[in-house]
Amino acid sequence: MRIENDVKLGFKDVMFRPKRSTLSSRAQVDVERTFKFLHTGIEWTGVPVMAANMDTVGTFEMAKVLAGMKMFTAVHKHYPIEEWSGFLSLAPRGIENYIAVSSGTGSQDLVKAEKIFHLHPHLKFLCIDVANGYSEHFVSFVKQARTKFPDKVIMAGNVVTGEMVEELLLAGADIVKVGIGPGSVCTTRVKTGVGYPQLSAIIECADAAHGIGGQIISDGGCTTPGDVAKAFGAGADFVMLGGMLAGHDESGGEVIEKDGKRYKQFYGMSSSTAMEKHAGGVAEYRASEGKAVEVDYRGPVEQTIQDILGGLRSTCTYVGAGRLKELTKRTTFIRVAEQENRVYNE
Ligand code: 5GP
Repeated sequence: MRIENDVKLGFKDVMFRPKRSTLSSRAQVDVERTFKFLHTGIEWTGVPVMAANMDTVGTFEMAKVLAGMKMFTAVHKHYPIEEWSGFLSLAPRGIENYIAVSSGTGSQDLVKAEKIFHLHPHLKFLCIDVANGYSEHFVSFVKQARTKFPDKVIMAGNVVTGEMVEELLLAGADIVKVGIGPGSVCTTRVKTGVGYPQLSAIIECADAAHGIGGQIISDGGCTTPGDVAKAFGAGADFVMLGGMLAGHDESGGEVIEKDGKRYKQFYGMSSSTAMEKHAGGVAEYRASEGKAVEVDYRGPVEQTIQDILGGLRSTCTYVGAGRLKELTKRTTFIRVAEQENRVYNE
């Protein structure tokens, strides 16, 4: 047994130190970024905030709205081909730049992804997602996907340490998804004791990825616009959101009414709710590592996005970053023992 003694930090452990700035208004801040991807050389420009590939978040409806704002959706993997076909035949022009096809590492997953890619030759993003990206099997699956789809941008994860980011990039991923255990409906840390505080995971993984020309997605744990800004400040190229985008018109699931108040169901993709829906139950050998909750119904997602991007622009003005690209260079985090004043919250 070994103990690492340096402290690992989460979003709640830090704040941005404000810095002198010449920016006079948050409207001057540019939140778009342009990336060139490692293996494909494809260039992408947009606002690097993403909807998670959860069936309550990464829906076609979400993708349509987010793409209109140049934001990205990792479309969940449970849509049948026919629904993809219907969606793509009606999809707004350019949507292919803002959506990823999601895949697990099952034997049929790449076959299905290939069929979806055939529906629209310009679809270019593949998101290979497993809870634990540390297995040999996962690395060889990423290699196989790179060989099969030489011209697609591959996102792969999840991992939380630099050496595994490097391994996945070398195996063929362009972008590595980072996060184990921080998610709002994730119970991995409770069920297994495994995890890594998200801010430190981002700092360490971004450093590893950028060293060899790759990018990272910070996945999970953002609960406020301030957390999204902290993820970018720490070095994330993209930030993926689940819970912050749940509960809207565009999120999956029905509106539930209770005592005159409206809610929407939201659940982890490894929760027993999801496994019963998609896999006919929780397999005997595994524990569910996600939970199901009812979140307040919040109307159209557009307002929430404005709120997130407004917060992000404001962070940039507080630290003097004219562009999102500069935010990490302008970031000094201070370690704190307090966050907001909650006296009127409860
Ligand atoms: P959030 O933004 O809600 O904090 O986190 C979203 C992320 O949580 C997802 O993108 C995914 O990585 C993770 N996640 C989703 N469902 C589950 C689950 O059932 N179990 C675990 N461990 N993580 C989940």
